[in-house]
Parts: sequence; structure tokens; C-alpha cells
Amino acid sequence: MKINLISDTVTKPSPGMLEAMRSADVGDDVFKADPSVNKLEAKVAALFNKEAALYFPSGTMTNQTAIKLHTKPGDQLICDKYAHVYNYEGGGVSFNSGVSCKLIDGHRGMMTSDQVEEGINPPDFYHSPLTSLVCVENTTNKGGGACWDFSELERIKNVCEKHGLAYHLDGARIWNALVEKGESAKQYGELFDTISVCLSKGLGCPVGSVLVGSEESIERALRIRKILGGGMRQSGYLAAAGIYALDNHIERLSEDHKKAGEIGLLLESLPFIKKVEPLETNIIIFEIDENYLSAEDFIAKLEDKEIYIIGMGQGKLRMVTHMDYTDDMHEILQKTLRTL
Ligand SMILES: *Cc1c(COP(=O)(O)O)cnc(C)c1O
Repeated sequence: MKINLISDTVTKPSPGMLEAMRSADVGDDVFKADPSVNKLEAKVAALFNKEAALYFPSGTMTNQTAIKLHTKPGDQLICDKYAHVYNYEGGGVSFNSGVSCKLIDGHRGMMTSDQVEEGINPPDFYHSPLTSLVCVENTTNKGGGACWDFSELERIKNVCEKHGLAYHLDGARIWNALVEKGESAKQYGELFDTISVCLSKGLGCPVGSVLVGSEESIERALRIRKILGGGMRQSGYLAAAGIYALDNHIERLSEDHKKAGEIGLLLESLPFIKKVEPLETNIIIFEIDENYLSAEDFIAKLEDKEIYIIGMGQGKLRMVTHMDYTDDMHEILQKTLRTL
């Protein structure tokens, strides 16, 4: 049995999801005439209590569109040094928006409001780029699935208001944070100008992300999505998967978190593991004690047993639990790790 823990994006649609997709009512979404896409957008907007939403083919495109919305070429955005928008979107910040990043040396992908305030360039000092946007990520990907303390996000919001900065949330895994912390989507909607959410990570859809914001910003986002080539036609087949996932796959994320916690505890007890980062959601980041074996050898040994994980660089390894990681696989993984 192949056990794939490389990412929570490796899932395949469940029978229920496939049935929802097959029976979707569709139209041409470029003409805004796809009832399933319209329904998904209305549903996500309502969930976050925002005026409007727009469906996208990827989380990268939602983030890039949000950055384009809130900045002008030459501007600077503030984000943590681990941020997905900086590290994993192909340099799109500069390619698409002509914007640079002020990187904050935060903790597990999270910054403090003081760090954000210190990162703002004085607007009257015309030699430095104009700061116009703050981007945060919840849960943090490279930070090991860490969840923000909501009050810190509120303090950053105050800093944004004081300095006239836009505030964007990369909520690719916001669902994991909501479930883990017992928070509501609405409280996030209230705080941020725009939020991007992924349907193709823990929620198990084959494709799709959504951007929420004001009526005015989503209208502008529609034009940007067009420019980026993100307009799709009968995308209701995909949106139907999103609607199904929102109705059926959010609460179950706690199972992924429980399994990840158990793997983390087991790893900590093994002699060849040097360090396991604190576990909050479904991402396990850990380091091998290279006196025993190298990270590459560890990955290869697991591969021999048809277990697949990924290296994050600097000797860090990552496993991510997800919908298709079953109880049986969980047993096999634990047994394999104990006897490695
Ligand atoms: C996955 C991810 C995205 C979007 O990625 P796509 O692969 O383009 O859908 C954005 N931000 C974070 C934190 C992510 O983990």
C-alpha cells in the first residue's frame, strides 16, 4: 500500500464529491453564467461575511491577484520570511505586481505587530519603497501548520489602519486553523480586506481557490484574473466539488490533526530524530539526527516501504496528513517508523 504524506494536495475526490461534480449544473463562467460557480462564490462570501467572492484555478493566482489589487509597481509588502507569497509563488510578487517584499524574521512564519510596524518605510521618505500591504498566512505552511493567536492578528490590523495599509490573509489552510482553534470564518472576514482560501488542500478538491473581499475589490479582481488567464468556462464541475467539500470536509480536519499529533509524539520518542516542531494541525516538520542517518537516507528508507515524504531544505523533513491517509495507513506508518 502506497502511503503519500508529501502534501494534503495529493487527495483524490471521494465518491460523494465525484457524484456532486458529475451532477453539477454548469454554464460559461467567463460570462458569469455558471450557476455552480456563482453558488460557490456566494457561499464562501457568506461564510466570511464578505460582500463578494471569486473562484480561481489556484491559490497562487488568488494571492497574486490580491497583491495586485492592493499595490502599485514599486511598492513594498510586508510578510514573514517563510511566507508562501515570497518563497513559493515563483517570484510572482515582482513579476506580476512589480512589488518587493520586506521580510520579517518571525517565529514559525508568524510576526508580531511591533515587527510589522518597524517594517513600514516612512511614507515621506521617498528614497525607500512605499509600504502598502501586509500579508499573513494562517496556518503557516513552512512554519509547520502553526496557528496564529487571533489577538496578534487584531493588533496587526490596528497597525494597518494606523498607517493606511491593506491587509491580506493567505488562508490556504485557514480551515485547519478554524477547526483547531474553534474560531469562525466571520471573525477573519471582519479583520482582513481580502482572504484567499484553498479548496484543494485539506478539503480534498481536485482544483480551486477562492478570494473574498468587498464588492469593489472583487470587481477589480475579475479583470486581474482575466489578465492572468484564470477565466474558466464550465468550471461549475470543479466548483461543485468545492461546495461539497465546504459542506462535508471541514469538521473532519480534526482527524488529520489527531493523526499528525500521534505521528509527532512517536517521532519524538525515536532515537534517530533530533527535533520535532510543535504540532498544531496537519503538518509535521522534523529533523533527523545525522549521526544515525542522513535525511536523504531516511526518505529513501521510507520509499522502500512505499511511504513518501518530502524534504524542506536545511535538513528539515515534512509529512502532511490528509483525507486519503486512512486509519490502516496510520497503523502501517507507525509500525514502520518504530522498526526502522
Ligand atoms: C498551497 C498554498 C498556496 C497556494 O498554492 P497553489 O498550489 O497555487 O494552489 C498558497 N499559500 C499557502 C500557504 C499554501 O500552502
